[in-house]
Amino acid sequence: MSKALVVLSGGQDSTTCLYWAIKQFGRENVSSLSFDYGQRHKIELEAAKKISEIAAVAHEILPIDTFSALGGNALTDDIDVQDDDDVDSVLPNTFVPGRNLIFLTFAAAYAYQRSIKHLITGVAQTDYSGYPDCRENTLSSLEQTLRLGMEYDVTIHTPLMNLNKSDTVALSEKLGAMDAMAYTHTCYNGEQPPCGHCQACLLRAKGFAEAGRVDPLIERFQFFTQK
Ligand code: ZN
Repeated sequence: MSKALVVLSGGQDSTTCLYWAIKQFGRENVSSLSFDYGQRHKIELEAAKKISEIAAVAHEILPIDTFSALGGNALTDDIDVQDDDDVDSVLPNTFVPGRNLIFLTFAAAYAYQRSIKHLITGVAQTDYSGYPDCRENTLSSLEQTLRLGMEYDVTIHTPLMNLNKSDTVALSEKLGAMDAMAYTHTCYNGEQPPCGHCQACLLRAKGFAEAGRVDPLIERFQFFTQK
């Protein structure tokens, strides 16, 4: 069986992809990779580590500390994340230019060294913030570039590409990812329990509501507050 590498951010989507990869390739063939890119919220990396433990797959964190030096971004710099109301036609300030392209290029180089030919990323072009590096044409073009540039037959899988958030919730339930889902991190403000009003929290809540499922992350915090 071929080996597969999941780019794991510690969020809901990449966690669903991790379980998708386990089903497709077998647990023993799957590993996960996270990037320490100078994000303000290290909680994401802790989540990725915990989720990999729950899923029983090997996990590694690669440091890339260049993005914060580029500046101007709410995920790496000390500036406020725009709430949904503030977002007009331009890209939100949570867009880190080139982030997915760089993540996948590093992931491909990492995979090459380990004879892994399948990369899995949780990007979706539906129901999202309109990030251009999450679109299908960007990803298929990048796959082509990586194949040419490394002379390596790598495939980028995007199982969530055309799913909306409620489809993703349904898929993660089907794949048995809900135990891990309780430890995912989505909130752009890095809060735990999640802030509930940032764009990421709102989108996540909408997905669970539409799927008719209680978010296990919320459930976990309710459990603690009731205790
Ligand atoms: Zn939030």
